[in-house]
Amino acid sequence: MKYFLTLKFRILASYALVGVSGCLLTALLLGTGSVLRREVLLAALIFSAFLAFISAWLVIRLLSGSLVEITGVARRFAAGDLSSRIPVRSSGEIGELSATLNAMADELGRRVRDAELRRLELEAAFSNMAEAVVVTDGAGVIARMNPRARALLLAPGGASGARLMDMPGGPELSAAALKALASGLPVSSETLCGSVPGIVLSVTASPIREQGIIGGCVVVARDITAERRLEAMRRDFVANVSHELRTPLTAIKGYVETLLDGALEDKEHAREFLGVIGEHAKRLDNIVADLLKLSRLESGASLLEKSEIELKTLADGILAGFPARFLSGPVKVSNLLAPGLTARADRARLEQVFINLLDNAVKFTPQGGSVEISAQDLRDSVKVLVRDNGSGIPAEHLPRLFERFYRVDKARSRELGGTGLGLSIVRHIVELHGGSVGVESAEGKGSTFWFTVPK
Ligand code: ADP
Repeated sequence: MKYFLTLKFRILASYALVGVSGCLLTALLLGTGSVLRREVLLAALIFSAFLAFISAWLVIRLLSGSLVEITGVARRFAAGDLSSRIPVRSSGEIGELSATLNAMADELGRRVRDAELRRLELEAAFSNMAEAVVVTDGAGVIARMNPRARALLLAPGGASGARLMDMPGGPELSAAALKALASGLPVSSETLCGSVPGIVLSVTASPIREQGIIGGCVVVARDITAERRLEAMRRDFVANVSHELRTPLTAIKGYVETLLDGALEDKEHAREFLGVIGEHAKRLDNIVADLLKLSRLESGASLLEKSEIELKTLADGILAGFPARFLSGPVKVSNLLAPGLTARADRARLEQVFINLLDNAVKFTPQGGSVEISAQDLRDSVKVLVRDNGSGIPAEHLPRLFERFYRVDKARSRELGGTGLGLSIVRHIVELHGGSVGVESAEGKGSTFWFTVPK
C-alpha cells in the first residue's frame, strides 16, 4: 500500500495513463479498419506504451536519484551533522528544495554554535562562581552543583543523586531548600557552615517552577565571613574609640569641676590639677593624631613618595632626635644596621615605623636593658629587626598584637602614654609598601619585632 503512495508510483502511473490514453485516442480516431491497420495500431499502442514507460522510468530515476541524495543529507542533519550540504544541480523545485535545506542547515549550525557558546559561558560562570550553587529536584535530591558547593558541602565526587541533607555541610542548605519547596517562595537565611568551622553563610533558596508546578530548587550560598568579621571589627573600633576618648575626657571634666567648685582658689592644688588636665589633653591629642594617621593610611589617601633610603642613616637620625630616651636613657639602644644598606620607601612613613617600634621597645624594657636595630639583606627586600630584652609578650597575645587598640596590659600602656594604635600604624605602612610585619617574643626574655621593605 505504501508503494502506491510513493512519488515513483504516481509518476509511473501518470505516464502509463498518458501512454494508454494516447493509444486509445489513436484507436478512436482511426475507427474500424483492416486487419493490417489493427496490427499496426496494436504495434503503435505497444510502442507508445513502451515509450511512456521508458520516459517515466528515466524521469523517476532522475527524480529519485536527487531525492535519495536529499533524504540522505537530511538524515545526517537530523543526526546532528550540519556540515554536509546537498549539491544544487538544477534551478527547478528540487534545486530550490536543496538550496532551502542547505540554508536551513547554515542557520541551524549558526544557532547551535551560538547556543553552545552561551552554554560554555554559563558553564564557566557556574564553575567559577564564588558562590556555592546547588540545584535540587522536588525532593531535595542534588541534580547539579558547582565546584564551590562541592568544596563547601564536602561532597564526594559529583554528588548528583545524593540528598542535599546527607552531605556533611548540607543540613543548613537543605533546611532552606525544603522550606522553599514547601512554600513555593524564595527563602533567605544566615547560618553557620556545618562542614567548615567558622564560616558564616548567607543562603538563598529559590523554587523552580515548570508550568506552575514546583519541580526543584536552586540554592545559592555566599560566604559572608569576611563581611561579618569586618562589621564586628568596625563595631569594636567605634566602641574602642569611644572608650579611649572617654577616659581622658572624664578625667578632664572631673578636674575642671573640682577647680570650679573652689579648688581654683587653692593655688598649689590648682596647678597640680591643671597639670593633670594638660596630660589628659595631650593624651586626647595623641589618640586623635594616631586615629587620623590610621584613617589616612586605610583610605589610601596617603600616596607614598618613594625614594632610595639608607637605613643606617635614617635610624641614626631618629635616635639623635630622641637623645634623652634613646641614647643616654636607662635602656641602651644600638644601631647595628650596616652602612650602605638601602630600601625604596616613603621616608616619612618609614621613619614612623622605626619610631613606633623603638618607642615600644624602650617603653617595655626595664632599666639596664638593651635594644638593637639590625637588618637582614634578603634578595628583593630588607628585613629590619628591632630586638629588646624587655618584658616580652605572652604567646596568646601575639596573633592580635597588630590590631587597633589591642594591648597586653591596657592600664600599663596608658600609663606609658600609649594609644594602642602604634603597631596597627606600623602594619598599615609596611603593607602599603608591599612588605610584611611580624613578632617573636618570649615572656620575661624580650621581643623581636620585624618588618620587610622592598629594596
Ligand atoms: P601602645 O600605644 O600601647 O604601645 P601599640 O600598638 O604600639 O600600642 O602596642 C600594642 C601593645 O603591644 C602594647 O600595649 C604592648 O602591650 C605590646 N607591645 C608592643 N611592643 C612591645 C614590646 N617591645 N615589648 C613588650 N610588649 C610590647
